[in-house]
Amino acid sequence: MNPLDGLRATLDPAAIVTDPQAMAPQLTDWRGKHRGAALALLRPRSVEEVSAILRWATATRTPIVPQGGNTGLSGGATPDGSGKAVVLSLARLNRIRAIDTKGDTLTAEAGCILADVQQAAAAQDRLFPLCLGSEGSCQIGGVVSTNAGGINVIRYGTVRDLVLGLEYVRADGAVIQGLKPLRKDNAGYALKELVIGSEGTLAVVTAATFRLFPRQRVSATALCGLDSPSAALKLLSLLKQSAGERISSFELMCDGEMGLALDLVPGTAFPLERRHSWYVFIELGDSDPAGRVGELLTKTLATALEQSLLQDAAIAQSEAQAKAIWHLRFAVAEANRRAGPTVSHDTSVAVADVPAFIAAVEAIAAERFSEARTFFVGHVGDGNIHVVLLFPQQTPRDQLGELATTVNERIFAIIGDFGGSITAEHGIGRSLTNALLQSAQPGALELMRAVKLAFDPLGILNPGAVLARR
Ligand SMILES: Cc1cc2nc3c(=O)[nH]c(=O)nc-3n(C[C@H](O)[C@H](O)[C@H](O)COP(=O)(O)OP(=O)(O)OC[C@H]3O[C@@H](n4cnc5c(N)ncnc54)[C@H](O)[C@@H]3O)c2cc1C
Repeated sequence: MNPLDGLRATLDPAAIVTDPQAMAPQLTDWRGKHRGAALALLRPRSVEEVSAILRWATATRTPIVPQGGNTGLSGGATPDGSGKAVVLSLARLNRIRAIDTKGDTLTAEAGCILADVQQAAAAQDRLFPLCLGSEGSCQIGGVVSTNAGGINVIRYGTVRDLVLGLEYVRADGAVIQGLKPLRKDNAGYALKELVIGSEGTLAVVTAATFRLFPRQRVSATALCGLDSPSAALKLLSLLKQSAGERISSFELMCDGEMGLALDLVPGTAFPLERRHSWYVFIELGDSDPAGRVGELLTKTLATALEQSLLQDAAIAQSEAQAKAIWHLRFAVAEANRRAGPTVSHDTSVAVADVPAFIAAVEAIAAERFSEARTFFVGHVGDGNIHVVLLFPQQTPRDQLGELATTVNERIFAIIGDFGGSITAEHGIGRSLTNALLQSAQPGALELMRAVKLAFDPLGILNPGAVLARR
């Protein structure tokens, strides 16, 4: 008997996809580094249908791989190659259930596209501050399940800081209705905090209630050219003194990465007169229409020039120019995907350690991987630096796995020396399960396994993601 037969009475035919061609895009990750197989792609339309699917999965012991926009960068949304799992797409649960402008909250279902949620908040004169390069396709369930970060974390925090309430479905199908818009709630263990960032291994997220913020009435955007990451941090200190809470973004990029973005992604343009070794992208915003963020940014950058902290800056004079500057920053993931074979890391260290960390990685890369070009880009104001080693196009594909293992060992050792994290915002997924085993404290791993067992005793939720199979 086909195990899917048990579902056909509950779900409409459009919710069960088994055609290999129709499933194919859902069986590989955004970077094309993970490929899998599946029994079916399930596309429920309601929380009740999600619950029925999980009851069925429990009864038939069928592994479930939850999937949102499939933009994750750690392979967490791709099933393994066995073909035994089903991919559970939340895309059709895509209603914004409520926007409360008195309490400043928004409740959205898991399948809502992030950009649509931003727009819905803006239509009510509010700001939904989560902002990522993938915002046109990643979904609310995905950003919650990865505890996504992005370019505004320096001001508004990660998703965990934005979620007030969560609705999710347990492995046995029980629905936990926790969409409370409460700012304070100390009743028992913080279960929603565990589900956020659990990458589909503890529960299936069906909706979340988020905090909203005052919309930014005025903003100022700049791209600065400078000579080192330590100059970038000095500039950040200066900016904190002058602009404080008005700093929405402060991002770092090396010139190599800038070159890739300009060469490989259509529509990118360079606004400075000449190239520099490093760049920072700055955005200030103020909800007060009389807020003089443009003046503030100009003055601060002039002081930074006098102090030789930066060499040049382009301050956007229009919304179109601001968009063009951010297009350069957001082009990075696409540029890296097109550039050739890469090994990348989503590292996190203390903000003050960023320059020394970058220098340590540069030294190891020059000594051990001289055939590769090494790039750095990321959310420097959060200590989150993406390290990218780009190997020559002609590198034999069968050598890449081995190369990645060696690069990983070296980079993880440096992260360990700095007391950092092997993933700041992308998550463990299937890419970093072994690295987590090696880097987590043994006592912490035991607790993680106990939590997994409590939520998902049969191990049907995204097996092989986050915690390696034993
Ligand atoms: C161009 C680009 C730029 C990016 N920039 C950033 C960035 O700046 N910051 C950042 O943090 N990330 C970034 N990412 C990574 C990615 O967009 C985020 O991880 C995003 O949160 C994933 O959302 P998604 O809907 O695509 O999730 P998916 O990729 O579909 O899934 C990601 C994980 O969440 C699980 N999951 C998905 N939906 C659910 C659900 N409803 N319930 C339970 N589990 C679920 C999956 O099983 C998987 O483990 C970027 C990616 C791209 C391609």
